[in-house]
Amino acid sequence: MTAVAGRLDQRVLVLNRLWQPVNIIGLRRALSLLFRERASVIYADEGSHRVYPAAEWVSHSRANPPPESEAIRSPSLALRPPRIILLAAYDKVPRREIRYSRRNVYLRDNHNCQYCGRKFSDEELNLDHVVPRDRGGVTSWENIVTACIRCNAKKANRLPTQAGMTLQRAPQRPKWRMLMSASLTAQEMDLWREFLDVAPSGELPWKA
Ligand SMILES: [Zn+2]
Repeated sequence: MTAVAGRLDQRVLVLNRLWQPVNIIGLRRALSLLFRERASVIYADEGSHRVYPAAEWVSHSRANPPPESEAIRSPSLALRPPRIILLAAYDKVPRREIRYSRRNVYLRDNHNCQYCGRKFSDEELNLDHVVPRDRGGVTSWENIVTACIRCNAKKANRLPTQAGMTLQRAPQRPKWRMLMSASLTAQEMDLWREFLDVAPSGELPWKA
């Protein structure tokens, strides 16, 4: 099946055979897995989640045509885009290293300054070395925290204790599942909530 139009920029949540989230992939790759029978579609129907192998998903799409704006079109079919797929064979949870980056530190800390505890936008935040570089502090998940510009300036080149400041929590390397939940759109959060580690409020559940 070739998708000639549709929302190929949409993302699809991938669950392993045990219904645990293992990845988020593009729609094109999800369709490829589906039609090679490596995965089925999971679709919420009247409160419960049903599993549709490729052929049944095609039938379901024919019986319940998607809105034109969502359809993945081939000459003979308007397919409903899957938003969750279930892998047929894979039952592991991959261990992943989360790349250290400014953006990922902000996500880990939920955009909260780790000194004053308030939430800021990217432009109002900085990365702070808890142990300053000139005292041997390294750039690592365990020594870098999100800080607002004001707290960052106040702390300057000192240890938190010297500046009379306290960290909200000890910085740690984040877990992949947790960070995955942090970068979801509101719609994805809604669709995937019950499969992810997210609190009902949509807030990040920080597990220290
Ligand atoms: Zn602050």
